[in-house]
Amino acid sequence: MFCRSAFRAALPLRTQARRYATESGSQGGGGGSNTFLYVAGGAALAGAGFWYMSGTPSAQKAEAKVKQAVGGAGKPAFTGGDQGFVSLKLADVETVNHNTKRFRFELPEGDMVSGLQIASAILTKYKGPSDEKATLRPYTPISDEGEKGYMDLLVKKYPDGPMSTHLHSMAPGQRLDFKGPLPKYAWAENKHEHIGLIAGGTGITPMYQLLRAIFNNPNDKTKVTLVFGNVSEEDILLKKELSELENTYPQRFRAFYVLDKAPKGWQGGTGFITKDLLKTVLPEPKGDNIKLFVCGPPGLMNAVSGNKVNPKDQGELVGALKDLGYSKEQVYKF
Ligand SMILES: Cc1cc2nc3c(=O)[nH]c(=O)nc-3n(C[C@H](O)[C@H](O)[C@H](O)COP(=O)(O)OP(=O)(O)OC[C@H]3O[C@@H](n4cnc5c(N)ncnc54)[C@H](O)[C@@H]3O)c2cc1C
Repeated sequence: MFCRSAFRAALPLRTQARRYATESGSQGGGGGSNTFLYVAGGAALAGAGFWYMSGTPSAQKAEAKVKQAVGGAGKPAFTGGDQGFVSLKLADVETVNHNTKRFRFELPEGDMVSGLQIASAILTKYKGPSDEKATLRPYTPISDEGEKGYMDLLVKKYPDGPMSTHLHSMAPGQRLDFKGPLPKYAWAENKHEHIGLIAGGTGITPMYQLLRAIFNNPNDKTKVTLVFGNVSEEDILLKKELSELENTYPQRFRAFYVLDKAPKGWQGGTGFITKDLLKTVLPEPKGDNIKLFVCGPPGLMNAVSGNKVNPKDQGELVGALKDLGYSKEQVYKF
């Protein structure tokens, strides 16, 4: 989850973002999505609307969808406690871009779900033939928690990174040890009125887990603003999925992309994520029930919120979010 380490101006996006914020309406109570009209979108997006507005699904269908989104149906493969590591077989590998692959691992039984709740991660373990000790690294699956029989990881390769290099060398049929879940921020529907997600690189995976939980659940009316920084356009992971969500929920989900190396004609921000951009697009700190989530490379974390001390200690809030007036309690570092 490492992508860059400093702030630079993102002027092209600023004007657009400011208009969006101006029209976003009140922050206070109620949760009425009609007070949260985003600027970009136009007729096509407006026409899409919320899926539940264009035809209310049956209660049964809705319930099944919620279960699929947040887990809760099927026997869990990962139960935590003293379960120890579970060996999973790699079923399929898909190359996503120049440094990232999607890995599909089979759960031990075909009708099992992962057992992960929102939000949580999974721990991998690998010890190479010449390694003195095993390497342990956490990952956040990108498949729905209610998906049966498999679990997908999206992993970026670091040339000197033992786990990502090992994963990228794996072929279908080989096995890897997993343990979990590793609980993170416990999400519940409508827990917050408006959340802001600030991600860099593969830091998008825990954000995507939250997005899936929120938008696959027709009962959850949370509004979400994503600020997603990457090096280049081809590094934007899950772009198709994020665009689909933005098109389907134009009044509740808005994504702002910032690139270090923007191509000609790029409509988003360039450089690094700036304090100005965050101020313009994020829910205001004085909002009654807002929460910000941050996940990215150490440089981004330092500049935006400061790094967490360890999984149990979020550390002090510093950086841009502190400067903008947010409290430590309003920010969660994955
Ligand atoms: C909760 C959680 C969920 C995660 N989910 C995902 C996910 O879904 N997908 C994913 O790809 N990754 C994810 N990660 C990151 C993942 O756990 C590994 O850190 C990553 O895959 C690299 O592991 P590695 O063993 O290959 O390399 P590492 O040995 O961990 O290092 C990787 C590279 O980063 C550089 N590096 C290490 N530390 C620093 C530093 N402090 N500053 C700058 N550079 C540094 C090293 O030089 C090396 O080249 C997640 C991390 C957390 C904490």
